[in-house]
Amino acid sequence: MKVLALNCGSSSLKYQLFEWDNQSVISKGAMDRIGEKASVFSHDGKKDDCSLPNHVQAIELLLQTLQKEGVVASVTDINVVAHRVVHGGQQFAKSVLITDEVVSAIRELSFLAPLHNPANLDGIEAARKGMPNVPQVAVFDTAFHQTMPDYAYRYALPAEWYDKFRVRRYGFHGTSHLYVSKRAAKMLGKPASACNIITLHVGNGVSVAAIRNGVSVDTSMGMTPLEGAIMGTRCGDIDASIPIFMQDLTKRSAKEVYDDMNKRSGMLGITAGRYTDRRDIEKFAADGDEQCKLAMEMECYKLKQYIGKYMATLGTVDAIVFTAGVGENSPTIRGITTSGLEALGIKLDKAINEKTYGYKDCGDVQISAADSKIKVFVIPTNEEIVLVEDAIGVLKGTYADHMNYQYSFL
Ligand code: ADP
Repeated sequence: MKVLALNCGSSSLKYQLFEWDNQSVISKGAMDRIGEKASVFSHDGKKDDCSLPNHVQAIELLLQTLQKEGVVASVTDINVVAHRVVHGGQQFAKSVLITDEVVSAIRELSFLAPLHNPANLDGIEAARKGMPNVPQVAVFDTAFHQTMPDYAYRYALPAEWYDKFRVRRYGFHGTSHLYVSKRAAKMLGKPASACNIITLHVGNGVSVAAIRNGVSVDTSMGMTPLEGAIMGTRCGDIDASIPIFMQDLTKRSAKEVYDDMNKRSGMLGITAGRYTDRRDIEKFAADGDEQCKLAMEMECYKLKQYIGKYMATLGTVDAIVFTAGVGENSPTIRGITTSGLEALGIKLDKAINEKTYGYKDCGDVQISAADSKIKVFVIPTNEEIVLVEDAIGVLKGTYADHMNYQYSFL
């Protein structure tokens, strides 16, 4: 069985084609600068310049290339397409087969994610056009967090804002939190439904989730990915008065200030526009750069506070998981984040922590000390496997929701 996983942005398309029978990726690549004069198609180690005015042409070229290179004999060899969709609002609490009604619902939700959902829809429509007989499945970034209780997802804002405009917290990175929390349960030797876990997805984007008995009960990102922890270029939690204060003071537009908070803040902002990559920040902090030192301290302090906050949310915690680019690769950031938490039952094995890094190669590792009450794991995330397995489950009718589905990685 072949599954094509697609992740479409406004000017990009990333794909992976899986051969499920032997659990391998048989082709993967990306198309960039779709809609611009000169587009680029990188696939399986090759890089071609091409012209891709829109996603329909991008999918056409992808399908032609897969056939020309003998990856598939025909488009109908692809059994199902899995699309990553950013915002599922309150309508989608699980992955679904894409129908005309689902497309309309995703379109209707575009007001909540105006940059992402239209791009995801372009990809869905192009794929449905290019592969009219292949079933397509939508996997939402927000779906995993739909189990949050109202007192966690509501903001203390006028009720009308929620009732009329659906202003509430949704959370993102759902497939990643889902995957690593289930892997953590496996490492704990218990079913996910018996585990309380705090997952820290620390990459360019950063989010933390509190997972009780296998389901998300709180997460740090909010109505948009701007809320929560400090990120590569996003500010995370701030006093909500600051944007209007800066608009008044600098006479800049709401859009400009919003862009500053999304694209010029976080680690980039603290280092005065110099670095987002934590490797640079760690290196220069070690060399004595004061802004880099501060950026690291602030990032770790905020993550530590989220651990404390979610320990209070959960009451008892079985494990804490670090994942994504930084979580998987930075012993320093994991070390500072968890330092001083021994009284809460969190103690790292310093030697194991130090040697656990190397993108995706380290596997799932326990980095807590043998006498740590709460286990701490590094688990490389694998969002694609969730897309692929959900798509197969939806296709075969074996998927009800993530708690009632036999993922291969359980
Ligand atoms: P994205 O949110 O874009 O998917 P990733 O999860 O791939 O991001 O994480 C990317 C980030 O991971 C980089 O910006 C970099 O800061 C960080 N990173 C990667 N390797 C290391 C490392 N060895 N040490 C510290 N940070 C790292």
